[in-house]
Amino acid sequence: MKIYKARHGGFCFGVKRAIRLALDAVKNGESIYSFGPLIHNRLAVDELQKKGIITVKGIREIKNKRVIIRSHGINPEILKQLQKKGFEIIDATCPRVRRAQRFVEKLIDEGYFVIIIGEKDHPEIKGLLGYARGEAIIFNETLKIKKYKLGIVPQTTLDIEHFNQAISHILPNATEVKIFNTICHETVLRIREAKRLARKCDAMIVVGGKNSANTTRLYEVCRHYKPSYHIESAKEISKTWFKDVKTVGITAGASTPKKQVDQVVKRLKKLF
Ligand code: SF4
Repeated sequence: MKIYKARHGGFCFGVKRAIRLALDAVKNGESIYSFGPLIHNRLAVDELQKKGIITVKGIREIKNKRVIIRSHGINPEILKQLQKKGFEIIDATCPRVRRAQRFVEKLIDEGYFVIIIGEKDHPEIKGLLGYARGEAIIFNETLKIKKYKLGIVPQTTLDIEHFNQAISHILPNATEVKIFNTICHETVLRIREAKRLARKCDAMIVVGGKNSANTTRLYEVCRHYKPSYHIESAKEISKTWFKDVKTVGITAGASTPKKQVDQVVKRLKKLF
């Protein structure tokens, strides 16, 4: 069986930067706390925890007033609370997410009502909503909104096809529309590469956290073309998946460490 590994897959620039900042922050042996997992990868988060990068749900759980903001960013109201309380804050918000936050602020300042396209429960979207100061909603297909001025901002990890569909749904509802394309180039490359491999191979394996939105999206893209399997670890691979499979493609989400992908390749080589 031939194995094809995606050229664009695994840790993105923003995730690498967040991990580097977090590891620097615990060099002195003092822990740092993150609201929600620093990255959406259970196994990697367990390793980070051992190094003193601890996941919490709220401010009360923080024991030493040291916080790292994840690459997804944070709601500005929570940031203000932390600053007021005198927390030491390491801001690992990805510069591309920060850019999207600035666009939302700019649209609000210019009098636009903002439509954010993305997953409502994703931390990046919760942060973006915060920057809209109550003047935004999250897109859904049943949305019937009539406004004179509409601003549109997508989640950085949105598939460009979904973005286009959402825009064509929104356009008839407004007289003036301002669109910022904040989809990250890393997302575009990963999805394009996943599609290319899925067309070429008999089956696809997508490696990454089940809680990772961009990994799940890669899986959805792949399974549209070929039988696909979303796994968190090499141990989940089953030999039965590969009956009559001569070529398999492997891709990974933006929060998947290289080590996890290597382990998948190793296990496939061992099995076949
Ligand atoms: S996918 Fe893009 S926007 Fe999101 S963290 Fe990675 S580099 Fe930043």
